[in-house]
Amino acid sequence: MTEFLFQIDSYIKEFESEIIEISENALVLDKTAFSYQGGGLQSDTGIIQTKSGEKYEVKHVIFRKGKVFHSIIPNPSEDLVGKTVKCSINWEPRYRQMRMHTTLHAISAILYKKYGSTVTGGNIDPEKSRVDFEIDHLRQERVQEIAEAIELIVSGSHDVSISFLEREEALKDPDLIRTKVNLIPESVKTIRIVEIEDGIDKQADGGVHVANTKEIGEFIPLKSENRGKNNKRLYFTVK
Ligand SMILES: [Zn+2]
Repeated sequence: MTEFLFQIDSYIKEFESEIIEISENALVLDKTAFSYQGGGLQSDTGIIQTKSGEKYEVKHVIFRKGKVFHSIIPNPSEDLVGKTVKCSINWEPRYRQMRMHTTLHAISAILYKKYGSTVTGGNIDPEKSRVDFEIDHLRQERVQEIAEAIELIVSGSHDVSISFLEREEALKDPDLIRTKVNLIPESVKTIRIVEIEDGIDKQADGGVHVANTKEIGEFIPLKSENRGKNNKRLYFTVK
């Protein structure tokens, strides 16, 4: 099992780790701050370097069966197992994903509170993200309303906190019930909670986030799409 440093602290840009396994072109580390692809987020990229100066580029990071695989170029040699490496994350796209991801949570809270609408999907990307939700219409005035509500959350400088709850406790929390905490596999005993404080949003979530909503910056709604009678999609970015 790889230890997920990014779930404890999303701001770790550099770290040391030990290579515990090599699988074709991928390294498994004992702990990692590289955020893997999943939960609607793209994988981080970056650099892994041995103490003797061999340098590898991290192209893609995935999670399989309790392990995080860092696909690198050039291909690693087997004798790297057991070596300590220095790792650094390509910070600019990662930080944009953190800003976009917290924005997505803020949008989901606004949609629920203003319109009783539920998010059905989403995708975070450093350049442009999207959110899908159930709502009857998404005309320009409503997009504007959502944008204004986001601006209030940004200017309110609300802390975003990370905590860990025992499963039984999480299942009793109304906010977590609403965001379907019961769908998390039963094998998961400790659940990570991401909360935009001051009562804005609270969800079970495994991804990277900013520490305060002011870091979101300027929210820019892009185009909206009709995805069926009661399903709409909004593209957005941050500046
Ligand atoms: Zn999330």
